[in-house]
Amino acid sequence: MDIFKKCYDYLEPRIAREQGYYPYFIPFSGGDDTVMLYKGAAKIMIGSNNYLGLTHHPKIVEAAQKALVEYGTGRTGSRFLNGTLDIHEEFEKELADFTGKQAALIFSTGFLANMGTIATLLDKHDTVIIDKLDHASIVEGCRMSGAPIVRYKHNDLNDLRLVLEKLPPERGRMIIVDGIFSMEGDIAQLPQICQLADEFKARLMVDDAHSFGVLGPNGNGTSAHFGVTDQVDLIMGTFSKSFGAVGGFIAGDTEVVDYIKHKSKSMIFTASLPPSVVASTRAALEIIKSEPQRRERLWEIGDYMRKEYQRMGFDTGNSETPIIPIVIGDNMKTFLFWKTLFEEGVYTNAVIYPAVPSNSARLRTSYIATHTQKQLDFVLDKFHKIGKQLGVI
Ligand code: PMP
Repeated sequence: MDIFKKCYDYLEPRIAREQGYYPYFIPFSGGDDTVMLYKGAAKIMIGSNNYLGLTHHPKIVEAAQKALVEYGTGRTGSRFLNGTLDIHEEFEKELADFTGKQAALIFSTGFLANMGTIATLLDKHDTVIIDKLDHASIVEGCRMSGAPIVRYKHNDLNDLRLVLEKLPPERGRMIIVDGIFSMEGDIAQLPQICQLADEFKARLMVDDAHSFGVLGPNGNGTSAHFGVTDQVDLIMGTFSKSFGAVGGFIAGDTEVVDYIKHKSKSMIFTASLPPSVVASTRAALEIIKSEPQRRERLWEIGDYMRKEYQRMGFDTGNSETPIIPIVIGDNMKTFLFWKTLFEEGVYTNAVIYPAVPSNSARLRTSYIATHTQKQLDFVLDKFHKIGKQLGVI
């Protein structure tokens, strides 16, 4: 059997490209936070994770440029050996402080942070308990760890309790949840999850990829939002969303972070985060802390858009944040909706199974603090028109 056969037989993307509704890997040529360019045409961006609009912030761009000149383009090696810079360590202290934890450790992406942390801490003698809609990087980390994986129904505390009650007492256990669920736009019920973790003696890890900059009194995430930071053992974040770049980190007790630092393969066997990115994300952290008006505007926009979509008759699922899915159900209708929107000047994300449960294909819309009212109303106008055309509303 030729192992390439599956590739030659893989027709779906080819058919979608030929028929003109392929929504993935769109090569934008430029633009700013809220408007991107595709073949010279402007597309309003309601599909990014650039929640605070920091990718083009002058102070952040300047910090990256300065570091590029001072430190060069990269460290060409692992943090473990030649790849650690003074600015990595300084930034880690700032991140520990920001998250309210003793220590933090920077990885080169959020995916690697999740994978490295989970696969290092758990093994086949433990059990890992995850929400059914947890991010793929958590699932990959769990698989790599070798620990049996038990999933509970999304955000369902009764089901979580049932799952915990059935675990053999001698096994180590860790619950892992997303703070804000990226495809649903709802928030983990962290205070109750903390109580269950305590009752059943499980460690608790929260993936705050979508929460930093968005939730919390200082933009400091879901645990801070609920006031339960001390009850959450590990907090994971990425720099690929509100921070406007790429990279990730894990924060927790000094000893635990130090163990991960020395044992995690995705820390040791990959090159460190480039200095320009460290500098830009550090500058972004300062803006996140000092410009709360961005976070306030983002929530104002999210509330406005959700209300308007619902008023028109769209299904916005359980959204309660500036991530607002427009649930359509059928894959083909979702692709058609996506294509028509794109042709009319709006970019969003078409998401189908397995990224979301089957029969719940959707357009995942998300907003930026710098979207103008005119842009938002343009988007709503297009959704209304296309929604009617396709019989979605
Ligand atoms: N966790 C969640 C919940 C995410 O949505 C993502 C990225 N989509 C990641 C982890 C991985 O982050 P990164 O992009 O930094 O690899």
